[in-house]
Amino acid sequence: MEKTPFKAESKRLLEMMIHSIYSNREIFLRELISNASDAIDKLYYKALGDDNLSFDKGDYFIKVAPDKASRTLTITDTGIGMTRDELENNLGVIAQSGSLAFKRENELEDGHGIIGQFGVGFYSAFMVADAVTVISRAFGSETAFKWESSGVDGYTIEPTQKDTAGTEIILKLKESTEDENYDDYLDEYRLRSIIKKYSDFIRYPIKMDVTLRRPKEGNVGEFEEYREEQTINSMVPIWRRNKNELTDEDYENFYMEKHYGFDKPLQHLHISVDGAVRYNAILYIPEKTPFNYYSKEYEKGLELYSNGVLIMGKCPDLLPDYYSFVKGIVDSEDLSLNISREILQQDKQVKLIAKNIKSKITSQLQRLLKDDRDKYEVFYKAFGTQLKYGVYSDFGANKDVLQDLLMFYSSKEKKLVTLAEYVSRMPEEQKYIYYATGETYERIDKLPQTELVADKGYEILYFTEDVDEFAIKVMMSYQDKEFKSVSSGDLGIETGDNPEQTEAEANENRALFDEMKEILGDKVKDVRISKRLKNHPVCLTADGEITIEMEKVLKAMPN
Ligand code: ADP
Ligand code: MG
Repeated sequence: MEKTPFKAESKRLLEMMIHSIYSNREIFLRELISNASDAIDKLYYKALGDDNLSFDKGDYFIKVAPDKASRTLTITDTGIGMTRDELENNLGVIAQSGSLAFKRENELEDGHGIIGQFGVGFYSAFMVADAVTVISRAFGSETAFKWESSGVDGYTIEPTQKDTAGTEIILKLKESTEDENYDDYLDEYRLRSIIKKYSDFIRYPIKMDVTLRRPKEGNVGEFEEYREEQTINSMVPIWRRNKNELTDEDYENFYMEKHYGFDKPLQHLHISVDGAVRYNAILYIPEKTPFNYYSKEYEKGLELYSNGVLIMGKCPDLLPDYYSFVKGIVDSEDLSLNISREILQQDKQVKLIAKNIKSKITSQLQRLLKDDRDKYEVFYKAFGTQLKYGVYSDFGANKDVLQDLLMFYSSKEKKLVTLAEYVSRMPEEQKYIYYATGETYERIDKLPQTELVADKGYEILYFTEDVDEFAIKVMMSYQDKEFKSVSSGDLGIETGDNPEQTEAEANENRALFDEMKEILGDKVKDVRISKRLKNHPVCLTADGEITIEMEKVLKAMPN
C-alpha cells in the first residue's frame, strides 16, 4: 500500500517527538488518555443535544492494556471515533482545531511554538513507540478504518473490522536502551502510577486488568494469582466537589497525598471561580516553614490542570514570590494543554488566574488576622519574613497588598502588632512611627537611643531582622506617618531644651569632646552633647538616611 507523506510541519513535529526533546516521555500516556476522554466528551455533548441519543455514563470508559508478549500497549476508548477523513485530517496533520488559523497568524511558527500551542498530543506516542496503529470507528458509521505509521515517512489508511464505535490505539514500544527503559510502559505497577499521577481526575473510568493475589482455598498460607479489571483513577477531583461536603480531614488528607509538606496545613482555601476566567483551586498555607524555604533550592509553584489533566507539576507563574509558601492545585477549563514553560508564562488565562489567586490569598490572610489572631501569628512566624521581602522587592510595587499583613514586636504591647494598630494608638502630637533595630528584643530594650522616645510614652517597633528596615524604607510611610529610627539625628520630639544653653554646655566641654574624638579617630564623625539621654551616659546616632543597622547589612553583602 502506498504511504501518504505527512504534511511538512507535522513531519517536523514528528521528528522532534521521535528524537524525544522531552525528558519525561511518560506524558505520552496522559496525552492519549486525554484524547480518549475528549472523544467520550464529544459523544456526551452530541447526546445532550439529541433526544434520540441517550448517554449512559456507565457505558463509557478508557482501557489501558499492556501486552508483554507482543511488546504493545493499547489504549481503547468508547468515544466518538474517527471517520476515514478524520483519521486523515486529525492524525495526518497537526490538530485541525478552529483556532489554528488564528494562532498561525499570531504566532511564530518555530517548533517550540507549535508544540506549545497544540500540546504534545497524539504525536507524543512516537516518543515511546516505533509504530502506532489507530483503529477507529466513528459513531453512527458502519465501517472502521485502520491508520498506521512507523514514523516520518508517512502513514497508511485501510478499512478494517471493529464492532463498536470508538478508537483503539496500539503502540509498538521501542526496544529499551541503556538510557531509557521502554519496557516500563508494559509494567502494570508503573502504568498505574503514571495514570494516577497525571490522569487521576479524568471523569471517565480508566480501566486496566491487574494481577492480584489471594489466599488459596483450602491451602493455608498459600496464595494464588488472579486477574481483575480495576478502575485506576478516582474520577472526581476534590477541587470539583462541593465545599460543604468536605471536611477539614479531607483537605488534610489531600495535602498529605500530594506531599505538599510533612506538617499539617495551617489553613486551606477552596476556590471556585466562574466568571471572566473559570477555575477551581485548592490552596494551602503550611503551618511550618519548609526546611529549605529560604534557600535557592526551594521552588514555588502550584499544580496546574486543564480540565482534569495535569499540565504542570509546579507552575511558578501562578504565585507571586511573596506568596511562594502557598501549595496547592489549580484546574481550569479555559486552558489548552500547553507544555512549554515559556508559553504558559505569556498565557492570558494563566495571568488572570494568577491575579485572582493573589487577591484570594491576600483576603484570606487578612481574614485570618482579623478572626484568628493566634493562628495568624503562627503563620507570620513561619512566613512573615517572606512578606517583608515582598514589600522590599520590586521597588515597593506590592506594598499596598502587603503592608496591612505586616507585624512587628511592640515596646508597649510586648507582642507582635500591626502597623494599623500602632497608628491607631499614636497620641495626636506624635509625628512618626518609631522603630529601633537590634539583634534581640532584650538588647533593643537596653538601647540608650530608645530612652527619649519611650520617655515620651511613644510606642517603638523592634526590628530584629535585616529585612525589616529595608522594607519600611521602601514603604516610606504608613497612613501618612513616616517611619523614624530612634537613632536618627532628628527625632521630631520637643526636648524643651534651649539651644543657647546647649551651645554653652558644648563650649564648656569642647576640650573633652576633642580629646574623645581624637582617641576614637575614624570610628566616629563627631562627638557632641545630646539631649536624648536620661539614664545612659552615651549613645551612637546615625547621620543621614542609612542607619547603623543598615550599614552593617550593606557591609555584609557581597559586592
Ligand atoms: P489535540 O488533542 O490538542 O486536538 P492531538 O494531537 O492530541 O491534538 O489530537 C489530534 C486530533 O485527533 C484530536 O483533536 C481529535 O480530533 C483526534 N483524536 C485523537 N485521538 C482521538 C481519539 N481517541 N478519538 C477520537 N479522536 C481522536
Ligand atoms: Mg490531545
